[in-house]
Amino acid sequence: MTQSPIASWRTQDTLYKLEGSYCPSCSTYALPAPRICSCGNTTLTPYQFSGNGTLISFTQVTSATSDFYHQPPFCIGLIELEHSIRTVGQLVDTSFEDLYLYMPVIGVFRKLYSHPHGIIQYGIKFKHRP
Ligand SMILES: [Zn+2]
Repeated sequence: MTQSPIASWRTQDTLYKLEGSYCPSCSTYALPAPRICSCGNTTLTPYQFSGNGTLISFTQVTSATSDFYHQPPFCIGLIELEHSIRTVGQLVDTSFEDLYLYMPVIGVFRKLYSHPHGIIQYGIKFKHRP
């Protein structure tokens, strides 16, 4: 399901730059950045994740919603970034057969999907990091 253009605008720092947060009270990192940390602190510092990560699980999608109708088959993975933060992302420039556990990956800026009214949503996908 695609996000509304407004929701996409509000989450663009996470989608475009992998920007999360750091809580100086409990030394916790988060992606996406919450408004309130689990410790109750509301004064969070923006934190830019590097995009370097490790592939810790993956699968191939052969049937997807109409939003991604033109893309199957494609691969998605669970990626562990620095500070043990995990995120899910599409894996690009590779095939399912070339993926392996603990493969180093890096975030790349790519088109995610098109909204019904023509707005193109961009964001971070992941590819092999040699
Ligand atoms: Zn905290």
